[in-house]
Amino acid sequence: MHKIKKLLVANRGEISLRIMRTAKEMGIKTVAVYSEADRNSPHVKFADEAVCLGPPPSNQSYLLGDKIIEVSKAMGVDAIHPGYGFLSENAAFGKKVTDAGIIFVGPSPESIEVMGSKLAAKNAVLKYGIPLVPGTDHAISDIPSAKQKAKEVGYPILIKASAGGGGKGMRIVEEESEFEEQMLRAISEAQSAFGDGAVFIEKYITSPRHIEIQVLGDQHGNVVYLFERECSIQRRHQKVIEEAPSAVVSLDMRKAMGEAAVMVAKACDYYGAGTVEFIVDEKLDFYFLEMNTRLQVEHPVTEMITGKDLVQEQIWVAEGKPLSFKQEDLKINGHSLEIRVYAEDPRNNFLPDIGKLQTYIRPQGPGIRVDDGFEQGMDIPIYYDPMIAKLIVHDESREKAIQRMIRAIDDYQITGIETTLGFCRFVLEHHAFKSGAFDTKFVEKYFSPDKLDIQWDDEEQILLAGLAIEIFEKNKSSLKDSHKSQLAGNKTNWKNRLI
Ligand code: ADP
Ligand code: ADP
Ligand code: MG
Repeated sequence: MHKIKKLLVANRGEISLRIMRTAKEMGIKTVAVYSEADRNSPHVKFADEAVCLGPPPSNQSYLLGDKIIEVSKAMGVDAIHPGYGFLSENAAFGKKVTDAGIIFVGPSPESIEVMGSKLAAKNAVLKYGIPLVPGTDHAISDIPSAKQKAKEVGYPILIKASAGGGGKGMRIVEEESEFEEQMLRAISEAQSAFGDGAVFIEKYITSPRHIEIQVLGDQHGNVVYLFERECSIQRRHQKVIEEAPSAVVSLDMRKAMGEAAVMVAKACDYYGAGTVEFIVDEKLDFYFLEMNTRLQVEHPVTEMITGKDLVQEQIWVAEGKPLSFKQEDLKINGHSLEIRVYAEDPRNNFLPDIGKLQTYIRPQGPGIRVDDGFEQGMDIPIYYDPMIAKLIVHDESREKAIQRMIRAIDDYQITGIETTLGFCRFVLEHHAFKSGAFDTKFVEKYFSPDKLDIQWDDEEQILLAGLAIEIFEKNKSSLKDSHKSQLAGNKTNWKNRLI
């Protein structure tokens, strides 16, 4: 057992802050790292000490594992927390940290390595009887035999990169005639994006839900599950809204999925916090997708319903302590939702809309948590993920949590850039979301930019028409003639609305 005294967080933004807050509460000194683009970030100000790693691009700053280890040694750091993204799932980094005599707050390099490859992961869990999506359990490269396999599995199929992540490296193939072209593309994309061209085939589940289980293990062989997170509201295979618990998971299903997740963790001698992702079909049968060997973006919803601080648990586990609770000590309290607030323009195909946060006022009140890494007046840099914040709410029921989230969205004031707040509000108000009957196609099926326009009902339209006429009458003397005749024409239309 080694008590951690000084922790370096090898990350930026909201997750760096979130980790350091817990560390401070535990009496642990904190060290932040930053790139030149993040010099004035809240995570830098919050830390006891901070070190600049280099220029803004990640490969010259946050991805410089060796430099981070050097800095840690020089500053007497005894543990490194990698957060998510960046170096968090880099087994070689984990090993170098440990070899340098520093604690890596995460699983062993071996667990990261196995679960970092979707194929190795499938093979590791196969012997434990974990249900897998029908497909191949090895890399495919020979086109004729791959085609044969795809036929056996049945179209549509998905070609996936074994090393893929972040919703990237997947291609849907609807029919055999497209197979060859898609497979060649998938291989070359996998090679360029992940440095590993290995791809495999999975049956494409047409109406799936993504439901994942939070697990926590210690270094003494104990593993527990902290229930599920529903992550089916996605865009381009990336999560946008998450909640816990799921509206469709029964007590029996929760137990079955939880126990399967624990087995997946045990299959790779897992310790620390991890997430076992499942895809669930229309019959509510679940299949193992992959395991993420890190703290997940959406971990707060689990914290809200279990009352556990997952970062504190990660730190205790890293120190070598046994888990402080057993499976039967855990229970679900109420309901929690998280929306990811991105600096993206939902009216313009969700293109990043970076710039200055001219107004930035967070919602407040009971049951509201904002995990963010920005302040008013700051610029959202172009170099990283354009996530501004995670807005999380908790209440006693799903209905109440949805109402609370809508209120919180309405109270969130952001100007200067476009955000996904209005888009998330649209989802929360949608009857399919409210009823719980939705799948990963929700956004494709129901969303279009015009849904963000204000929809006035009849009564409101009449009121507006009346108001417009009044304003026109008052101001007509000061109008140009051309405008006057144009507006007079409109006035007839407005009058018609009034009748
Ligand atoms: P989560 O379920 O935690 O939301 P995501 O798949 O959205 O997981 O990924 C979280 C973060 O990790 C994102 O910043 C994403 O870009 C990054 N990430 C995930 N997998 C990879 C990978 N294989 N390579 C690089 N970055 C990744
Ligand atoms: P990543 O490493 O990018 O997170 P995942 O295997 O977890 O990759 O898949 C990401 C998302 O892609 C899932 O949440 C789901 O929406 C979709 N997906 C993955 N596999 C399938 C499948 N076999 N059928 C249908 N959708 C899938
Ligand atoms: Mg995934």
